Formats: sequence, C-alpha cells, structure tokens
Amino acid sequence: VPYVSRKPEWVRSEVNLGVEYRSLKHLVRDLNLVTVCEEAGCPNIYECWKDGTATFMINGERCTRACGFCLVDTSKPLPLDPSEPKRVAEAVAALNLSFAVVTAVARDDLEDGGSEAFAATIHEIRELNPSCSVEVLIPDFKGDQVSLERVLQARPDVLNHNLETVLRLHRAVRPSANYVRSLTVLARAKEFGLTTKSGLIVGMGESIPELKSVMRDIRSVGVDILTVGQYLRPTRDHLPVSRYYHPDEFAALREYAMSIGFRYVEASPLARSSYHARQGSDAAAGA
Ligand code: SF4
Ligand code: SF4
Repeated sequence: VPYVSRKPEWVRSEVNLGVEYRSLKHLVRDLNLVTVCEEAGCPNIYECWKDGTATFMINGERCTRACGFCLVDTSKPLPLDPSEPKRVAEAVAALNLSFAVVTAVARDDLEDGGSEAFAATIHEIRELNPSCSVEVLIPDFKGDQVSLERVLQARPDVLNHNLETVLRLHRAVRPSANYVRSLTVLARAKEFGLTTKSGLIVGMGESIPELKSVMRDIRSVGVDILTVGQYLRPTRDHLPVSRYYHPDEFAALREYAMSIGFRYVEASPLARSSYHARQGSDAAAGA
C-alpha cells in the first residue's frame, strides 16, 4: 500500500492556545508531570485542555516497548518516583477535574509492571478528589495476574486496555504484545465487575472485515466502550499510514460496533483512547 503523505482536511485539528490550555501546561510543568497529550503529540490537545481534561502518564517517560505507531521514547527507564501518585492527585485537584485519565508506559523491567503505582494513583486521586471518576489505561503487565488484580482491586471507574489493531498486524504494530493476552486482561476486568473499554487505530493496513472481527472479539469479552481513531504517523521512522478513512466510514464502523452491543463508541478521525472519556463512562454507567 503506498504511503499517503497528504492529510485530508478532516484530520487537521484547530490550534487554539487559550487561557485554559496555557494554565494546564504551566501546572503540568510546575508539578513535573507527564501527559500523554503532549508525549503522543495528540491532535486534540487544544480542545481537551481547554475543557480541563488531560491524560496523565505515570511511571516515567521511557517505555520498555517499541510499538510501531507510538511516539513515546523507547529506552532504559529511570526508577519510579514515589511522590508521583500524589502529584497527579494534586494536579487533578488544582484543575478541579471531575474525570481523570491515568496511563503509563509499559514497565516490563519492574517486577510489578508498574501496577502498584497505578493503584496508588487511583487511591490518591480519590482521597483528594472524592467525586472525581478515574479511568486507567493499563498495559498487559506481561500477563501477570497479581499485577492486574492489584489494579482491579483499586476499582477504577473505567478499566481501559487497547487492542490497537487487528490480529494479523499485531506482530508488526505491537511486537511485545499479544492479541489473546490483551483480550484476557479485558475479560478478567469484566469478570471482576468493572466497566471496561478498548480502542483501535485504523489506517495501518487492516481491512474492514478484519476490523469487524476484532470488534466482535472485544465485544465477546464484555467490553462496554470502544474507541476507533485514525492513525497519524508521528515521524518518518514510524509505520506508514495505509490510508485515511473518510468520516462516513467512521460513522459506519460506529454503527456496526453499536449493533453488536457496545454501550458507547467514539469513532472519528481524531478519536483517541481518552477522547470524550467522560461521555463514554457516563453512557456505560447509565445504560
Ligand atoms: Fe489528551 Fe486524550 Fe485529549 Fe488526546 S484525546 S489531548 S491524549 S485527553
Ligand atoms: Fe507506546 Fe504503550 Fe507501546 Fe510503550 S507500550 S511504545 S507507551 S503504545
């Protein structure tokens, strides 16, 4: 498939350096925190930050994995900072967020995979912000059950784990991950009784029937919320974009996903895992 270098107008986002964006940026800097919004070069940053929503990335800026679509730095990680969970909670309080998203790089170098920090961050946010809902976007912890249970026990409002792509492309796109292992994480979280969520990125060489098949697999383990967004190549060193899906195609994918039983589906060119996270959580809770 040829690399398509020119982006259609529907994947260009508006640059809007408003007051909210600037104050969130200062706060993130002052508290020495990392956001996915910045690290991943997310196209929604102006909209989300203007609305006071951000996704915090804990456990450092260096990932032990190297997924083909991801801009996060792959290198030897630094030791964890024990004050980080509290600082995230302070930022949530300072921003008066009612919905916080927390994710992390994969820490395959740590025995607990970074799961203790996830649990601690959920607790700290709740302690300082009792009315705030918390969504966590977790790695697979290499299939380690103890690590996963630790996060489940902290009872996040939404447990998100992304499949990212279709079965055939897993080796190329997520070389350290495993399709069945990811489905098992989601199945266990549902069995535990949590609201669950997963996400896909399109435009990496998959076909529509393959996409529908992964949607059915995700739904078969009881997942409530699904996100589907367009892959945007972060640099020339990343996987090429196979094609840009038209907004109408996203609408059709959304319709298909709803027809097989998802409670909430966010599917659009600029949809990201944490885009409109609050709406997804509300819809799943109210359904
Ligand atoms: Fe941040 Fe998520 Fe919004 Fe992107 S979609 S700017 S990662 S909160
Ligand atoms: Fe990026 Fe997550 Fe893959 Fe690490 S595990 S490279 S943070 S997508």
